[in-house]
Amino acid sequence: MLNLAALVHSLRCSLLHIESRLLQAAGLDRHLAPVLAVNCPSLLPQVDQEEQQSPEESPDLLDSILWMAAPKKRRTIEVNRTRRRADSKLIKLKTNIEPCPECGHLKQKHSLCGFCYAKVCKETGLIRHQIQAMEGGPLRAPTVETVVLYEGETPSQQDKDKRIVERARKRPSWFSY
Ligand SMILES: [Zn+2]
Repeated sequence: MLNLAALVHSLRCSLLHIESRLLQAAGLDRHLAPVLAVNCPSLLPQVDQEEQQSPEESPDLLDSILWMAAPKKRRTIEVNRTRRRADSKLIKLKTNIEPCPECGHLKQKHSLCGFCYAKVCKETGLIRHQIQAMEGGPLRAPTVETVVLYEGETPSQQDKDKRIVERARKRPSWFSY
């Protein structure tokens, strides 16, 4: 037993000597302490591997999301107002406005005067109400044509067979026959 213990001790001394020589040859510090290496079972949670895997998975996760363009800085109110009040966004100057020859209200050229159109619409609505009162109900319209006569007007020869709607006022100048 003594011989065996002495043999192990001498072997250990020689191995340590060889190790120190190898470290010296490799340029490493001779007095470096050996790192403790323990072959432990895999019961402990291996945090390092998970941390290494997560940055590899994150690019895939980011690629699956459509990232919209987002402003990096707030635009100042001066910049916003300069954009909103640009020359291209201002209302264009209209040169096609003229007074209505009938009533004098301003209107666009080549378009109906809104004031005159409202007058005619109102008079037409009154005539329609009168016709509705004459018929007394829906689906009772006669099969003949209708002519509207104002105060002081008499039906002409071609209007004899037509239905006559009489208005109790003089014909306005803007309501032509
Ligand atoms: Zn007009």
